[in-house]
Amino acid sequence: MKEKTNKKILYIEDDPEARLLMADIFRYKGYIYIEASRGLEGIQLAKEHLPDLILIDLQLPDIQGYEVTTHLKSLPEIKSTPIIALTASTEREIKELVLTAGCDGYISKPINITEFLFNVEEYLAGKKDIINPENEKAFLQKYNIQLVSRLKKKIIELEGLNKNLKKLNRELYDSRDYLSQYNDRLFYMNNLANHLRTQNDPQKMARVLPQKMVEGFQVDRCIVFNLNIDNGSLQYFASAGIPSSELAEFNLKLSEDFIKLLHDEGGILWIKSKADILDKSLLEFSNILNVNSFIICNIADLHTQTSDRIELENIRSSQLNAYNENLIFFIDKSKTKKLFATYEIRILKSFLQTISVIYENMILYSKLHQLYEKKSQEAILDGLTKLYNYRYFIQELERETNRAKRYDQVFSLFMLDIDKFKNYNDTYGHPAGDVILKTISKVLIENIRNTDTVARYGGEEFVVILPGLERDEAIVLAEKLRTLISEHLFYNEDTKENCKITISIGVACFPEDNENPSDLIKSADKALYQAKQTGRNKVCSLLDIKSKSR
Ligand code: GH3
Ligand code: MG
Ligand code: MG
Repeated sequence: MKEKTNKKILYIEDDPEARLLMADIFRYKGYIYIEASRGLEGIQLAKEHLPDLILIDLQLPDIQGYEVTTHLKSLPEIKSTPIIALTASTEREIKELVLTAGCDGYISKPINITEFLFNVEEYLAGKKDIINPENEKAFLQKYNIQLVSRLKKKIIELEGLNKNLKKLNRELYDSRDYLSQYNDRLFYMNNLANHLRTQNDPQKMARVLPQKMVEGFQVDRCIVFNLNIDNGSLQYFASAGIPSSELAEFNLKLSEDFIKLLHDEGGILWIKSKADILDKSLLEFSNILNVNSFIICNIADLHTQTSDRIELENIRSSQLNAYNENLIFFIDKSKTKKLFATYEIRILKSFLQTISVIYENMILYSKLHQLYEKKSQEAILDGLTKLYNYRYFIQELERETNRAKRYDQVFSLFMLDIDKFKNYNDTYGHPAGDVILKTISKVLIENIRNTDTVARYGGEEFVVILPGLERDEAIVLAEKLRTLISEHLFYNEDTKENCKITISIGVACFPEDNENPSDLIKSADKALYQAKQTGRNKVCSLLDIKSKSR
């Protein structure tokens, strides 16, 4: 910093670079700076300007430095002006030489600017006017004291800095700890979410979640309830960190307002103290569990439904297995009396959001799966009798024909028809006729093997495929079925009477009658026709017809 001073300094030096440096230093510091490159010029300028301090290089080109100093010291007006030698050598003899040359002191080169200026100031203040070993010692002591005090100041400064660094370090350490915990939980959450994505049973997932939350998120308890959205009642579903026996009995019922609040808050609420619990039942529950702070969430409110989902609404509402989408999670850390950190809430929320989407998708998937199963069953079953339909029968007959051909096996085919069924319908009505069709289907199903296939061929006609059955065995079975039906008492709801029904059966055998499925059907049909023609309530097979017609 430039300070204003009236002090004049004369520098006698033949080296222009050294003069340049001094000119810079002194002018910068605000001194009046005069310079001479030779001894005689120096004497001249000293007389002229009467400087406050003279700095001299003792090796000058024109006259010896000591000649200059001796001359200057002989002048009354300059006698008391301190003359300081600048010497490159620190040798003791040189220093003595400097003193004998009449200098008041010396400064060693190369100079340390701060130290140099300090010395200059000291000389100017007359503090170093006469250099003798005693004075020099006193000066050094003083200089040392100043140095020590500066050092002390520096040390205090450094200590302060060090304290700050330590604090910073601790903060860094804490945040490293926090980041590592954050990272651990994110990692766990990601793994868990990936695992859950591979599952397809929503109930099973909801059942394992509490344990997973307690294991991976350092929470003490996690309880899952089924919320009945119509009346607010909570039904215990699963828990971890608390035995189910403590919860199953509890009758929790959330108020409509609280359910709405939870919904408006995006599905999750962080209750920090009892004062935040705005639901009577929940307050009672938290008292019983001795909990002040917890998280409550409804996972159905944690995600926004997309338009695709809304399009699938009709699937949801169809009469499939019902899943509850409103699962309430109650999570707390009260056992360890620890509070949730904001980052923990963030992670938990993000995890529960992921869960809600997975859960929703699982429900949808499982409904679609059920729907698919239902539709594919419907595609092969007859609506009235629940027997296989015509289409399925044709495919199965084709398959059985191929199988029998490949393994060189036999099978039989029945074609059944209810006798005079039109009369029954006409007398008792079509609905009563439907009951007969269902009852006969039941009798047929109950009296065949599960490897046999019964189908409704159409109207009041049925077909049965009987793998491995030869003609004789098939005729025995057909007779058994015919007898069972003819002896069965068909109860009529309207008349409150039992009726009798008979059937006729045509039997055809593979490969004897035909090797081709459609021709085999024709053979069975032909045999059935024969049974009808020859009096009904009969079993006929193509071979009988052939042998009789011979
Ligand atoms: P036949 O002994 O010669 O077989 O005499 P039928 O009266 O049983 O035969 P027909 O072919 O003349 O009549 C078949 C009747 O079966 C006509 C119809 O009323 C009845 N029928 C066909 N499908 C159904 C059905 O799904 N429900 C009811 N209730 N009746 C049916
Ligand atoms: Mg018929
Ligand atoms: Mg008939």
